Amino acid sequence: MNYLSRRCRSIQPYTAGEQPQDKKYVKLNTNECPYPPSPEVEKTLRDFDAGRLRLYPDPENAKLVATIAARHGVEFENVFVGNGSDEVLCMCFPAFFDENDGVAYADVTYSFYKVWAHMYGINSVKIPLDDEFKLLPEDYISMKGVKGIIVCNPNAPTGIPLGRLDLLKIVESNPDKIVIVDEAYGEFASCSVANRVNDYPNLLVVKTLSKAYALAGARCGYALGNKALIDGLKAVKNSMNSYTVNALTEAVAIAALNDKKYYAGVVDKINAEREETADALREMDFEVLPSSSNFIFARHKKLSGSEIYFSLKENGVLVRHFKGERISDFVRITIGTREEMKTLLAEVKKIVKNRN
Ligand SMILES: *Cc1c(COP(=O)(O)O)cnc(C)c1O
Repeated sequence: MNYLSRRCRSIQPYTAGEQPQDKKYVKLNTNECPYPPSPEVEKTLRDFDAGRLRLYPDPENAKLVATIAARHGVEFENVFVGNGSDEVLCMCFPAFFDENDGVAYADVTYSFYKVWAHMYGINSVKIPLDDEFKLLPEDYISMKGVKGIIVCNPNAPTGIPLGRLDLLKIVESNPDKIVIVDEAYGEFASCSVANRVNDYPNLLVVKTLSKAYALAGARCGYALGNKALIDGLKAVKNSMNSYTVNALTEAVAIAALNDKKYYAGVVDKINAEREETADALREMDFEVLPSSSNFIFARHKKLSGSEIYFSLKENGVLVRHFKGERISDFVRITIGTREEMKTLLAEVKKIVKNRN
């Protein structure tokens, strides 16, 4: 007897980056922030009344929603929060698509989109990036045969951003389709359209506190959009779990969002370190895609992606390698602290040398 549903049996789950518990790596594989969260987060944790955990959290997370709304200059009704942006993105599929609808996204992008689409019986329509891994906006103008579009901006795992105006042209030319913009790395770039959600009823922007805000472990993400879209997400959420954002996470997320200055410093440091690391890799015969994120995507002229991944891992440095068709030559390297980048570059140098 197989007790699993046909749906469950056909599911093809996403493989998250390794979180090794055995040994200590220089961990550059899951785009976590190398710096601690704001000191305000630590203070909030210290002052948190454990007694509050006796009660359920506010099912609306009103304080957090108000903080996010103020941050982005939108109304309370334009904000939806969730247990990480993966959860928010997942809920977008049943909220905006029916079975057999089509959803368009790039052939090289966040591989979770395919998993969610498949789980809900939605057809993925993959639009190839060009030879330089850039998204061609013209491919998305007035699209036919799909119900919606997802753009990861800046894109992952390439790190390449699409300009704001190009993105808004896509949104404008597809008024009958939902356009979901995954801005997981938006803080590192200048392509965010978060402040435009009230100009376009079909635009939904999804963001996270896991990357720039150094709160991956707290699990908090959110969506910004027109009230009708947000209400759709709320209906889905309230059909699954009334309390997706716990009281502790709500408190630390508010503290983080209110410390703009600290995080501006974090982003500046990471962006500067990224450019230095990219140049150093280019000097060792790597092609490094032009990233506006907290990671770089690079391939070596002679070494394969898996060779670099395994050699680095053996020497205590963890990066991410994807087996996908066009990208198996690449490794994705999270930008760490200066020290961590020094270690990475020293290990890469050894690998390259051994091979010559
Ligand atoms: C990390 C990431 C997310 C999800 O982050 P959460 O931790 O679930 O908030 C979503 N999209 C992309 C492209 C990411 O890289």
